[in-house]
Amino acid sequence: MSFHEAFEAVIGLEVHAQLLTDTKIFCGCSTKFGNKPNSNVCPICLGHPGVLPVLNKKVVEFAVLMGIATKSKINRTSLFARKNYFYPDLPKGYQISQFEKPICEFGFVEIEKKDGTKKTIGITRIHMEEDAGKSIHDRGETTSIDVNRCGVPLLEIVSEPDMRTAEEAFLYLAKIKQLVQYLEICDGNMEEGSLRCDANISVRPDKSGQKAFGTKVEIKNMNSFKNVERAINYEIKRQIDVIEDGGKIIQQTLLWDADANEAHAMRSKEEAHDYRYFPDPDLVPVEIHSDWFDEIKAKVPELPDAKEARFLSQYHLPAYDAEVLTQSKELANYFERVTGITNDYKAASNWVMGEVLKTLNEQKISIADFQIVPQSLGGLITLIQQGTISGKIAKDVFAEMLATKKTAEEIVKEKNLVQISDTAEIENVIRQIFDTNENQVKEYLDGKEKVFGFFVGQTMKATKGKANPKMVNDLLKKKFDSLKP
Ligand SMILES: [Zn+2]
Repeated sequence: MSFHEAFEAVIGLEVHAQLLTDTKIFCGCSTKFGNKPNSNVCPICLGHPGVLPVLNKKVVEFAVLMGIATKSKINRTSLFARKNYFYPDLPKGYQISQFEKPICEFGFVEIEKKDGTKKTIGITRIHMEEDAGKSIHDRGETTSIDVNRCGVPLLEIVSEPDMRTAEEAFLYLAKIKQLVQYLEICDGNMEEGSLRCDANISVRPDKSGQKAFGTKVEIKNMNSFKNVERAINYEIKRQIDVIEDGGKIIQQTLLWDADANEAHAMRSKEEAHDYRYFPDPDLVPVEIHSDWFDEIKAKVPELPDAKEARFLSQYHLPAYDAEVLTQSKELANYFERVTGITNDYKAASNWVMGEVLKTLNEQKISIADFQIVPQSLGGLITLIQQGTISGKIAKDVFAEMLATKKTAEEIVKEKNLVQISDTAEIENVIRQIFDTNENQVKEYLDGKEKVFGFFVGQTMKATKGKANPKMVNDLLKKKFDSLKP
């Protein structure tokens, strides 16, 4: 046992999800990304004196949806609070957030680890808040400020410190991403910053039974799933090394540097916070009446776990297939549309998980931009199922479908790819091959069974891959049997 195994890490995550509303949380400004800097602004989101914020109803709906999806308690009354701090990208000098009475509390999600074990990760709270602006540092000597993002709505999802490894943190984050995408409340893009994650990490002796947590360190700026895993592993190791060397962990905030693969301390001035939260006097408490709650609840779609379970029972798929296919709602929908054409569900699953996902990866596109419509893929699978084309030819047809957007039927007809399933025709080809390869025939009959593959290959080649492979195998065996003494 290495010394490292004598420690246990304790990890909690704070996730910020940027909500897909058209307008900001407290004003009518657009949330559109990529507009000219400082153009999506008004006196309210710039925090001019005397203006009054008005809450965007959609933000509350999105928060309740996420609360329901994480089995949280939805507080029928919640409050907005001012979080006071000074920063150049925060013109008001405070951020409107929720503190004492958040909209959701006490939720949880379930993760499934690689070894198949399941674990429940608690969610302490989910609250609504506004985003701050953006400081842009890479413009020579100066720093520029773009306040378009000021007032863009966020959900902050705070987990319990229930995770013990970087793998668990990764899976929890993946689950949160999957849920916000299923609910269509956030696009879940970490690289573009619409899903952000900070981690609180501490370590404690594993075997001593110590219940108290060690001193925690916060890591920020992990802008991809890969970086979350790397940064957490880095920090766990760093803390253990410090303790092993007889040192003490200092409570601090670190910024992850993905290029250097290490974390650096933020300047102490930047992390010394005393927010002086107090209820925002400009915003009335948020009340969610039963009628409205029921209306929102009716909008909750079939969620990933339920969909996965249904895929298992309805399509009799292996657990792995059901998990991969329900990774995103769009992929699941695509698969289900294919099954509207063919009832060979396992074949449909194999094609979607294989060729389709491979193409999406190669072209770096999402299923929404995939060139082959599900009906066409269903048509291709039907042709294989009916024996019209072989599985091998189907791969070529698939490539042709990608390039031309034609249906499988059209391509098969145009290129004359219909499978040869005529016994006499295949027997005729085999006879010719036996005539011109007498030596190999003899080798096989002398017991060199490997040569069988050569005859399969020659037959397929002579028929341009169109011969029914099962028939080729059967007829070759029959032919050899007839030659055996
Ligand atoms: Zn505004």
